[in-house]
Amino acid sequence: MTSSESGEDARAKGGRRPYLFACAQCQATTAEFRYECRLCGGPLVLQPERLHDVRVEPSHRGIWRYRGILPLTHSEVSLGEGDTPLVVLDSSLTHGRREVYAKLESLNPTLSFKDRAMALGASMASDLGLRGLVVASTGNAAVAASAYAAAAGLECSVIVGTESNATKKLDACRSFGAIVEEVPGDYSAAYGIARSRENDGWMNVSTTYRNPLLAEAYRSIAFELIDELGDSPVAVIVPIGAGPLLRGIERGFQDAVDVGITRAIPKLVGVQAARVAPIYHEWLRRHGGDMAPTPRTTDPTIATAIADRLTGYESHGDVTISAVERSLGRIVAVGEESIVDSTRRLAAVGMWVEPSAATGVAALPQVVDNEGVSGGPIVVMLTGHGAKAQPLPAS
Ligand SMILES: [Zn+2]
Repeated sequence: MTSSESGEDARAKGGRRPYLFACAQCQATTAEFRYECRLCGGPLVLQPERLHDVRVEPSHRGIWRYRGILPLTHSEVSLGEGDTPLVVLDSSLTHGRREVYAKLESLNPTLSFKDRAMALGASMASDLGLRGLVVASTGNAAVAASAYAAAAGLECSVIVGTESNATKKLDACRSFGAIVEEVPGDYSAAYGIARSRENDGWMNVSTTYRNPLLAEAYRSIAFELIDELGDSPVAVIVPIGAGPLLRGIERGFQDAVDVGITRAIPKLVGVQAARVAPIYHEWLRRHGGDMAPTPRTTDPTIATAIADRLTGYESHGDVTISAVERSLGRIVAVGEESIVDSTRRLAAVGMWVEPSAATGVAALPQVVDNEGVSGGPIVVMLTGHGAKAQPLPAS
């Protein structure tokens, strides 16, 4: 998207109000689509626009049923994303707690929640006549971007750090026709390269907060949960790297409160792998709480899809922390053993997910006994499928 594409242009095209972005760091606002604040370089987030009603589009499915809460696009690139199943979690996984549900984001078209964001990103890039999508990824976003670029007739450039160990995911990207570059290091290293290419006809869809619109696609999850459960759950547990999924869900529940279909935003619990937990450490610094289950380390985690050290863009974590604070939730961390164990125990009841997705189940013991989440359903976001993940270590 070019920097000349302003909210005013969007309004002229679609008749809706212009976008307004605010810097999460210095609070400066702008109507111009940008990848960072012009004044301080901080992340921009779409300012909440108080909705008065949400018109469901009955002839559409998935995220496009809720077009009214998404950023305006004219294109509607879709591979059937969204409207994922909500199933009861087996009692062997819930520590005696009833009414714990799993939201199977692992069953999106490319097997992760990122499909929601990439449907929106590919639609925007098509509207703007851009050449393609560029994405830094630990793997899931890359596969989703590759598929949605293919669906939209766009090119896709994937940059991934070798530390992400994403062999199967990269094979999938190539099969969709994406150009894949592996660079030494972790996600943060790949992210720096994607940033350097984000103009020149490429839209950066790295689903950190770099693109200030993509996380809005996750608002649809809140509406799907309310549709299914009849009201908001009491808590939603969300594995987080930088956390745009959590922030998008929080915005969706706020929309639902604004239009009067629910009374409260659930407590949002962000989960990180203890080995790569910058947001958890910042949460502890601000709010106190239990000591970290493992000391800070440079060892990689098996939960590669959420292994984001936020190196060089630490302030992005603040956007997620603010969303968690507004929901009266918290950030927790889980250790490697419990991640592996939860992945296995999910498989033992027929749920094939990657280790990052299993962190939500690993976090359940820290959530079920917590004050304020009694008397209502808890939802665990199973963010990514096991089919694309590397095998678990031998037990
Ligand atoms: Zn700023």
